[in-house]
Amino acid sequence: MKPKKSFKDLKGLHSRIAPTPSGYLHLGNILSFLLTWVFVKKSGGTLTLRIDDFDQSRVRDSFIIDIFDSLDWLGLGFDRGPKDLADHKKNYSQIASSASYLDFLKEHYPNFFYACECTRKQIDSRSESGIYDRRCKELSLPITEGEHSWRFNSGNARIALKDIWGSEYHYQCDDFVLKRSDGVAGYHLVSLMEDVKLGINFIVRGHDLLDSSASQLALAGALNQGPFLNTLFFHHAMVVESGQKLAKSKKSTCLNELRKRGLTCCDVFALMANMLKLENPGDFKSASDFLALELQDYHGISYDNDSIELDQTTIPSIL
Ligand SMILES: [Zn+2]
Repeated sequence: MKPKKSFKDLKGLHSRIAPTPSGYLHLGNILSFLLTWVFVKKSGGTLTLRIDDFDQSRVRDSFIIDIFDSLDWLGLGFDRGPKDLADHKKNYSQIASSASYLDFLKEHYPNFFYACECTRKQIDSRSESGIYDRRCKELSLPITEGEHSWRFNSGNARIALKDIWGSEYHYQCDDFVLKRSDGVAGYHLVSLMEDVKLGINFIVRGHDLLDSSASQLALAGALNQGPFLNTLFFHHAMVVESGQKLAKSKKSTCLNELRKRGLTCCDVFALMANMLKLENPGDFKSASDFLALELQDYHGISYDNDSIELDQTTIPSIL
């Protein structure tokens, strides 16, 4: 289905690029960033860099530095957010804010979550799908800061999500984790509250996060975060290599490694154009070159399409 909308219909998109510094950025991340950058620019909106560092067990300074280096190298500027590692740590780290979201829950929405003592192993042994069976919902375990996790009392909410291309997606919400047993806030809670704080109204993410978008909409409804319910989503097809999802742990598709191997900025943009199935991908040499495209040109990467196979042989300089 071709989009009926054009870029003229998209005004004032406020979005963010939100990497988790748990590894070096890969080409799938870069594609998401480029799409976000282009759509925001075309709409005359604002772009924020949001570094999701609330789970400190996975964060390394070198991964945060890689985010700044990569965005700078690619010429993907942003309007709001940290300027470097020191600025991030001093003014933007989510460590304190993620803890405050848990206090907010406890204070204002005690009926929307419950404590759960189950381990991942126990849940998997009871459920083939791995979906939590709500065993602790009726136990009324004490709400403590540590020890037990906290789970969203979803009430079996069914979520209908429409993305930018008009396709509708239905999701049966589960009782996902809002606080882990180690005290760290859950991803959906932090992501939602940070987006609300930043005034985000447009989110680009991979198809694999479709369920996450639906979960966050359910949580936004429960926690009275009305503006988030009007968020426009663009879920793009997944970038895969040999059928496997790209991972930050795999060097061969990390930008940082490809740069060491001689990949140029122009090569990256040609590769992005290739992923978007555009004609003459070699003509795309900078992020700005993508601004000349129309909305329908981005439909080739909508989630209605198959995953995008990354073909490294299309980059002559790294052969
Ligand atoms: Zn439980």
